[in-house]
Amino acid sequence: MNTLYEHSTLASLMAGNFDGTITLKDLLTHGSYGLGTFSGLDGEVIILDNEVYQATSSGKVNHITDMNTKLPFASVHFPKDLIELSPENADFNYVNQTLVKEQKLQNVFAAIQLKGSFPFLHTRIAPKQEKPYPSLLEVAQNQPEFTFEDLTGTIIGYYAPAIFGSVTASGWHLHFISDDHQIAGHVLDFKAENLSGNLEIFDTLQQHFPINDSDFRDSEVDLASVKEGIEKSEGSSNK
Ligand SMILES: [Zn+2]
Repeated sequence: MNTLYEHSTLASLMAGNFDGTITLKDLLTHGSYGLGTFSGLDGEVIILDNEVYQATSSGKVNHITDMNTKLPFASVHFPKDLIELSPENADFNYVNQTLVKEQKLQNVFAAIQLKGSFPFLHTRIAPKQEKPYPSLLEVAQNQPEFTFEDLTGTIIGYYAPAIFGSVTASGWHLHFISDDHQIAGHVLDFKAENLSGNLEIFDTLQQHFPINDSDFRDSEVDLASVKEGIEKSEGSSNK
């Protein structure tokens, strides 16, 4: 069994439920690689082999070791049955188009990990919000973006079929971290060389809900605005 574990939903984040509802300690029992965000939408989280990094909107990257730190949304997995990828030169379009077609991902959840040189990288980083929280759509309209040249690092991310596109981001949701751990973020575009990596296709989605969180239980989801907001805020394919 290949399981992707998701804590809470993107729809809940869209509704402005930014308070953390799972600790890193709990989350890491469900996976050693992953991505997400911290309480208050405080940056972009990338988890590599049980090490947790946070890209903050100032551009600084923190190595997080306090396992009581909470996240309102996260996806994690334990790598298993990896399909080797060696695309050599690849870009954002390769991941979004070619890879999805070649590997027939359109109806499955999958994880990717790609390591190599990045002549070009375009990221954005969610800025920490204060209460009362705005919606994710409002945050999305004002997020710091960064461009870089000549980095070496790793992209990890998840693919979700379009029909799940309010439970999580449909298509690819990709985060990057440089080998020196100085640069990280949510990937909007990239060009890469000398890539090697792997793909995992999940046969099981474990969707966990923060049922003891009253904000989650009380919030009303407006599906039409959620879909619009997710496209604008979390989609990897918006540039
Ligand atoms: Zn992200």
